[in-house]
Amino acid sequence: MVTSEQYLGLDDSKLVNFKDCPNRMQVHNADRDALKALVMLVEDAATQGFELRVASAYRSFYKQFKIFDDKFKGKRSVLDEKEEPIDISLLSDEEKFLNIIRFSAIPGFSRHHFGTDFDIYPINLLPEGKQLELTAREYDKGNYFYPFGQYLNLRMQKFGFIRPFNGKGLIAKEPWHISFKKKADEFLQAFNIDEALEYLSSFKEPWVKYAVAYAKEHYKELLVKP
Ligand SMILES: [Zn+2]
Repeated sequence: MVTSEQYLGLDDSKLVNFKDCPNRMQVHNADRDALKALVMLVEDAATQGFELRVASAYRSFYKQFKIFDDKFKGKRSVLDEKEEPIDISLLSDEEKFLNIIRFSAIPGFSRHHFGTDFDIYPINLLPEGKQLELTAREYDKGNYFYPFGQYLNLRMQKFGFIRPFNGKGLIAKEPWHISFKKKADEFLQAFNIDEALEYLSSFKEPWVKYAVAYAKEHYKELLVKP
């Protein structure tokens, strides 16, 4: 049974640790079943010439809260719909909020809290000296991750993965974000909007009231919950 602490990213005790690559020694947390499926996908991708890496797996409520708050305070860059950095300092609090949610989940409303979702990329296709962007344009036809996007289209379902953010809903397209559907659905089923809103409402940062109102109306689209 999935608890509210688990779907809100407040309890990582059921998750397992893994390192995506011994050289980089980056440690992630994830759901055990999702990780097993990911390992199979990594092996399959390798046979097709893709050296898959994980940019992000489980993210706690507090981590997501900090990311959001840093963007609101101008400590982290915010991107416009063309994925270009924008100066939000002159915007109203509500406008800042609306710009941030384009690419950042509201804390408590992120599938990364589940441990079933991963942001991945093929490190061997990233041009030398280029920083990973995690933008949709990296996957555009002719761009460096395009072949990997095509590979995922063909193969990810075989291992139980879907891409929840396909650009058809409220959230911008995220070709790098994959979800282990079977397990993620258990979290989505357990998800209770009243509990999630009550917890988020307990914070007093100036953007929280906008986040609560927005999440109340749009939580199904934010989580891609059937
Ligand atoms: Zn993601």
